[in-house]
Amino acid sequence: MARRDLRHPAGVDGPWFVDDRCIDCDAARQVAPGLIARNPGDGVSVFTRQPATDDEIAMAWRAVLVCPTRSVGHETIRQPPPGVFPHDLGDGVHRLGFNAESSFGAHSYLVVRDGANLMVDAPRWTRQLLDPIEALGGIDLVLLTHRDDVADADRYAERFGASVWIHEDDRSAAPYATDLVRGTDPVEVTAGVTGFPVPGHTEGSVLWHVDGHLLFSGDSLAWDPARERLLAFRRACWYSWDAQTDSLARFVRSGLRFDRLFCGHGWSHDASAEILHDQLVDLVARMPAQR
Ligand code: SF4
Repeated sequence: MARRDLRHPAGVDGPWFVDDRCIDCDAARQVAPGLIARNPGDGVSVFTRQPATDDEIAMAWRAVLVCPTRSVGHETIRQPPPGVFPHDLGDGVHRLGFNAESSFGAHSYLVVRDGANLMVDAPRWTRQLLDPIEALGGIDLVLLTHRDDVADADRYAERFGASVWIHEDDRSAAPYATDLVRGTDPVEVTAGVTGFPVPGHTEGSVLWHVDGHLLFSGDSLAWDPARERLLAFRRACWYSWDAQTDSLARFVRSGLRFDRLFCGHGWSHDASAEILHDQLVDLVARMPAQR
């Protein structure tokens, strides 16, 4: 619960606020754009405008429940309304919220689909998600993009009887995994779901390509809204920038296309498959200069 006594003074006047325990993970800003922004003074989040419409109030509540440090809140309404998460993003994809501090606020997703429901990375454990996930058909497969964003995947997998996939090179973060992606060859883990290894951000990073057009990138690829282009996180590349460049180039050559990008950290984005393909080609061409 956000601490009123720690309210950040740079926030705009009004009942909604962010406290100064914010760790600058960016998640709240991504679910409440136009309301919450980065304070230039210290880099933490603040409300720059109070929500005015029902849609904006819903965005503010999403910010409350994505925040890993529970830093977003309302002065007097302390309990969120029901049904804030999972948030339906279309095409069966739901943002799960309840981002974990252990994953530095990474987003996670439930994909409801014929055949097998997917959880991509995991939120912090909360009973508030159990009934809604059950109502959406539960979880068949937990797909981990890399070692940093596993959060409480083990508890969700156990609760729903799901199998868990991670790359063998990041397996130490999820020793409970039931199945491993190996090497750099893509693997179809169930019909329509391909794990594409992309060593770089971590040695065992994987892109999960779903139903021909959805791409879950973990921390290997994101959208840069300021420059309106795809990006890879140079300063958050823990294993090898050269390997990440080669990995994304291999993905370009693979023929796998996507028109919806869902990230762990960073901004998700929709565009035509042709535009995102061209964007990815441009990114791969820029990356060597960032060595
Ligand atoms: S989600 Fe919370 S910790 Fe992350 S930037 Fe927003 S307010 Fe800060």
